[in-house]
Amino acid sequence: MTLTFDHDSAAASAPRPVRAPGHGDAFTDHMYTLSWNATDGWHKPELGRLQPLTLHPGTIGLHYAQVIFEGLKAHRQADGGVAVFRPWDHARRFQRSARRLAMPELPEDVFVDSIEQVLRADQGLLSDDPSHSIYLRPMMFGADANLMLRPSHTYEYLMMAFVAGGFFGKAMETVSVWISHEHSRAIPGGTGNVKCAGNYSGSFVAQLQAQEAGCQQVVWLDPLERTWIEEMGGMNMFFVRGSGPGAEIVTPALSGSLLPGVTRDTLLGIAESMGYVPREERISLEQWRRECAQGRITEVFASGTAAVVTPVGHVKDRDGDWTIGDGEPGPVTLAMREALVNLHHGTAPDPKGWLHRIS
Ligand SMILES: *Cc1c(COP(=O)(O)O)cnc(C)c1O
Repeated sequence: MTLTFDHDSAAASAPRPVRAPGHGDAFTDHMYTLSWNATDGWHKPELGRLQPLTLHPGTIGLHYAQVIFEGLKAHRQADGGVAVFRPWDHARRFQRSARRLAMPELPEDVFVDSIEQVLRADQGLLSDDPSHSIYLRPMMFGADANLMLRPSHTYEYLMMAFVAGGFFGKAMETVSVWISHEHSRAIPGGTGNVKCAGNYSGSFVAQLQAQEAGCQQVVWLDPLERTWIEEMGGMNMFFVRGSGPGAEIVTPALSGSLLPGVTRDTLLGIAESMGYVPREERISLEQWRRECAQGRITEVFASGTAAVVTPVGHVKDRDGDWTIGDGEPGPVTLAMREALVNLHHGTAPDPKGWLHRIS
């Protein structure tokens, strides 16, 4: 799709790498915006300075959460360039999210082009510290100023970014998790398999309960039987059975209420070449507890774009707590994390063409 472009104030930022980014507030200088209505389709693309939006208080997206987003990262490459990881897959998931919320689909090439424009302007903010990245946050919202309960007739698409710090380089620590028996993240027929804003606000109370219980993260059970493990916070989960070559790497099958993570797909895709056996199956809470006690499950970790691979050390549950392995990050977890990080930085072969270079 071709869009006529308005390059107003989009001069690239001079290199001034952010030295100590947190996660989510070191915004870069630019954002890309694009509008949609039924007459003009997608129109008025602009790369401009990141600045506050002016919204009517009756904007549909604010009231009825007709809002979707994505999250993906760009990393420094060995030769000094920058590459985004699997942008086409995120573009397609953004389209699935749009369909589910009765929103217009953004063409994949426009999605990728918006990333390129922001990165070309702001890549100078990324230091060469390999633990840093640029986290890209595309989002779209219903923009009508109208409180009828119906889909918006107009939409705004935005691509913004922030510089993200990382944790490797420092010793990686395990997180402790708390099982939520009270709340569900998603339901069959709901929106759990797409990235829409309402999924996350609905999960905050359980996240707070986990913190009150002294844990960093909440683990979600399936909403019907409250038996099967679904996800950890906003990340997919993996269970390691055995150790060394031939270890099984098991992740819950996509039930319809799980979010199909791009990181999950990447790890399943590279496990075999690392000598592991990837599997998708249902795992119950009781099985998790029992197989840890038997020494069958040796490691557990979670995966997602933001925190990459995060090892889980302890589980807190109303029916008793337990520790996974010795409570420290395990060798399979560390190997998977390293393989993924090498892919991101272009220091491992990329047979599937997952890296998208920014020229
Ligand atoms: C975004 C997200 C993930 C991870 O997806 P990635 O594509 O790997 O970043 C997992 N679970 C939920 C609920 C999410 O929102």
